[in-house]
Amino acid sequence: GPPDAAAADMPLLRVEGVSKKFGSFPAVDHLSLDIRAGEFFALLGPSGCGKTTLLRMLAGFETPDEGRILLGGRDIAPVLPHERPVNMMFQNYALFPHLSVRDNIAFGLKRAGMARAAIDTRVAEMVALVKLEGMEKRRPDQLSGGQRQRVALARSLARRPKVLLLDEPLAALDKKLRESTQQELMELQRRLGMTFIVVTHDQEEAMTMANRIGVMNAGRLEQVAPPRDLYEAPASRWVAQFVGDVNLFDGEVTSHEHHRLTIATRDGGAIVVAVPRQPVAKSPVSVAIRPEKVKLSRPGVASDASNSQPINRLEGVVTDVSYLGGSTVYKVKLDSGAILRSSVANTARLDTDTYDVSQRVVAWFTSDDCVVLEQ
Ligand code: ATP
Repeated sequence: GPPDAAAADMPLLRVEGVSKKFGSFPAVDHLSLDIRAGEFFALLGPSGCGKTTLLRMLAGFETPDEGRILLGGRDIAPVLPHERPVNMMFQNYALFPHLSVRDNIAFGLKRAGMARAAIDTRVAEMVALVKLEGMEKRRPDQLSGGQRQRVALARSLARRPKVLLLDEPLAALDKKLRESTQQELMELQRRLGMTFIVVTHDQEEAMTMANRIGVMNAGRLEQVAPPRDLYEAPASRWVAQFVGDVNLFDGEVTSHEHHRLTIATRDGGAIVVAVPRQPVAKSPVSVAIRPEKVKLSRPGVASDASNSQPINRLEGVVTDVSYLGGSTVYKVKLDSGAILRSSVANTARLDTDTYDVSQRVVAWFTSDDCVVLEQ
């Protein structure tokens, strides 16, 4: 029927308390999620956390044990996979080896009963979209990995689904090709204005491509947020550790005054942090500090404290220096025994301080550079 005002506010896809068990093992565990039309959404999580199982339920290849999946406000449980306006591109591409590029792309259109002339037009359009002109007659074994990936993409887009599900779409490609294909996928998604849901265990890939990321752990969503929020304001210790590099100190809150918390850390030290927006339980907590927030100075040299926030200073010895081009990562063994990583941008300035292994340093960070997390 015609879309009404309520439908316009509805997310395109709504996952409502969905569970899926294999035997007694909960692969997906009471998971809820809304996805808006036109989003590039990434499901990110370690191997075995249930990403593919969730995707397969959206596609209709698995049936939830509990919960509902709504598309445009309608429960899609009764809709067969090939009748859903949802298409899936598989990790191994699942191309038909004996069919040409053209026939692989045309396969779903034929099955849907599209007229031959219309199929020809649509295939030509798809071939142009993924830049495979001139390769229509080749079989998959006569294509490179990147070209096979494009055929799979063209085939999954041919029926113009509302939602495209991509299961580790770039896993088979080498690093350079993966990076250029990421850009192509983003451009394609924007151009088509389609909703993409991509499964990946590669956080850089998720951060690069997605508008929002759902971080999955053991069948549940730990956090759903735009890449920046995920990195700057992780919702849990687990997310802080999974997304990007992080220094973590576990400890107990010992005092709370003047918008500051003091945390006695397990290594015997104390860290002062700004009071977080969400209240934090008394104990135990973790303090997360990203390596690029940790600055280094020589002992005795005043830290460059241009802001009025309290500064945490921790002394130690450099044990490792990794030059990474844009930045240098220093590993510092603190006097407390803890290891702290500091990532220093390599600016063009020649007077940028560098430090050598065995050198004593002060590692410092302000109270508002820390995130306090409940454990
Ligand atoms: P990966 O990144 O390794 O593909 P994933 O996050 O996609 O992992 P799933 O494939 O969804 O994980 O699997 C989730 C859990 O469910 C795993 O422990 C897996 O072994 C189990 N599982 C998946 N499919 C089945 C099945 N058909 N029968 C039994 N167990 C299954």
